[in-house]
Amino acid sequence: MVQEQLASRDISDARVLAAMAVVPRHRFVPEAMRAHAYSDSPLPIACDQTISQPYVVAAMTQLARVQPGSRVLEVGTGSGYQAAVLAELGAEVWSIEIHAELSAVAEEVLRDLGYGEGRVHLRVGDGWAGWPEAAPFDAIVVTAAPPFVPPALVAQLRDGGRLVIPVGVADQELRVVTRVHDGQVREESVFPVRFVPMTGGAPRR
Ligand code: SAH
Repeated sequence: MVQEQLASRDISDARVLAAMAVVPRHRFVPEAMRAHAYSDSPLPIACDQTISQPYVVAAMTQLARVQPGSRVLEVGTGSGYQAAVLAELGAEVWSIEIHAELSAVAEEVLRDLGYGEGRVHLRVGDGWAGWPEAAPFDAIVVTAAPPFVPPALVAQLRDGGRLVIPVGVADQELRVVTRVHDGQVREESVFPVRFVPMTGGAPRR
């Protein structure tokens, strides 16, 4: 997976490649899908959601520029896989999931793999509002697509912090929003993506 799907493409950050090599993706995939855990595609998980393709997880992680000790918010815990990769890079992770069932399963797997309370904090709720008590964050990784960038998430970035987020409804693109200073932002579009929609308080369009 790491050689053929990541290093051969544009994943060049050695720390990201190492984290992707260490986190056992099969543990985050439903039993029936285990045989496909390391294939080059997204896979279904419970509640009609998906665990992203390994390349997309790696690309988003690389774009977030996570350092050891970084405070990182994830919106959309899902299986817990992306949270584990972020924790493996040495980040302290706060991850929000709107489906209680997914959060519970993710918690069990994460704790079992040693990503304990101090490394990954989990909450059931609506990520549209972020996690204000734990802000500001060095990076925010969103794994469900809202129609536009949630203002609360930009507000919860520290100056210099990076928000990596799929945006759009029918046509989505991955964006990196960097908070420059005093709430000023710089936005870049990275590549087209297809994520499940962000639900909860995210406006429908
Ligand atoms: N990062 C996950 C990918 C999960 S797919 C992984 O590594 O497996 C996106 C997830 O976002 C789904 O589990 C979905 O339930 C969740 N989600 C959608 N809207 C949300 C919202 N408003 N707040 C929190 N989670 C949300």
